[in-house]
Amino acid sequence: MKGDWGMSRFRLGVARVGERYDAIVVGAGPAGLTAALYLARYNVKTVVVSKDLGGNMAIAPLVDDYPGIPEVPGAKLADMFVNHVKKYGVPIIVGDPVTSVKREGDMWCIETESGRRICAYVVILAIGAEKRKLNVPGEDRFVGKGVSYCATCDGPLFKDKVVAVVGGGNSALTSALYLASIARKVYLIHRRDSFKAFPVYVEKVKSNPKIELVLNSIVTEILGDKKVTGIRVRNVDTGEERVIDVDGVFIEIGSEPPKDFLKSIGLELDEEGYIAVNPDMSTNLPGIFACGDVAGGKYAYRFEQIITAAAEGAIAADAAYKYLLKIRSAKTEESRG
Ligand code: NAP
Repeated sequence: MKGDWGMSRFRLGVARVGERYDAIVVGAGPAGLTAALYLARYNVKTVVVSKDLGGNMAIAPLVDDYPGIPEVPGAKLADMFVNHVKKYGVPIIVGDPVTSVKREGDMWCIETESGRRICAYVVILAIGAEKRKLNVPGEDRFVGKGVSYCATCDGPLFKDKVVAVVGGGNSALTSALYLASIARKVYLIHRRDSFKAFPVYVEKVKSNPKIELVLNSIVTEILGDKKVTGIRVRNVDTGEERVIDVDGVFIEIGSEPPKDFLKSIGLELDEEGYIAVNPDMSTNLPGIFACGDVAGGKYAYRFEQIITAAAEGAIAADAAYKYLLKIRSAKTEESRG
């Protein structure tokens, strides 16, 4: 369908409008950027608002499962997504997290940390999930002083040093492999003896001479004075504890949804706190859609891959566009009557 879809011609409801768009995409990972791309191609006046650019895709050391683009650094793939959206002139506001989403008249209005206020008929939430914390003594104290949640961001600081990675999923194993290309030695601490990660990574980790597996083990404390000097590790089978000297600890134990923020909007959540979406990525709130890692519920096949996030973003945009067309018809009828 061609041409401006025309919402801006219609009288608004009671919203105290600041900046006004037809659609706001919150989040600029693969889901949000794809939603923005598709909305722009439907000529929907769209803005992207995000705390960062590229989401978890941007911090993936190397992506080798996005079809057609083999072995691409996550940051480069993220740049490609961003440039594709920018080609359509969609504004992308970065570094300003959204703090509230509220209904005002017939629009949804968001507010950001810096006090920016933007209203639109549609909001697509593609905010991903937050890194899970270990919650052990020393973790908070040494963030930025040896404790990290991002190997690509902080890995280069550990050249020829000894580091530990905690976790047994794809993030932990890809981080361990990346860190092994920089650090002198990498301990991979995992609470079981088998991995959730893809076999392709497990094989690479097992055959890397710089990576030592510490299995059936959990980190009980992060040790140090001004910065990290070691970790206390307990074997869950034997109960035996030991200290491993390390300069850094990379915590890669998955992620969690921002439950409190989502509840404050009035969204229906699933048991784990992800947004319950319908097959078209719509939610219990008319005009709010969700896609990517933050989407859950009985219809979501949670796979947390770049390609599935992008696919969900496209579906959310298409459903949002159809929703906008319905609003336009209703408003046309109203203005005639
Ligand atoms: P994940 O798949 O949920 O794995 C989390 C890992 O951390 C699991 O091995 C889990 O142990 C462990 N864990 C969880 N809580 C823990 C705790 N409190 N203490 C110790 N260990 C704990 O998370 P992820 O690795 O961050 O990956 C997130 C998603 O992104 C996944 O869907 C993944 O496939 C995707 N991803 C894909 C790629 C790719 O190359 N395609 C790369 C990175 C991430 P258990 O195994 O015992 O549960």
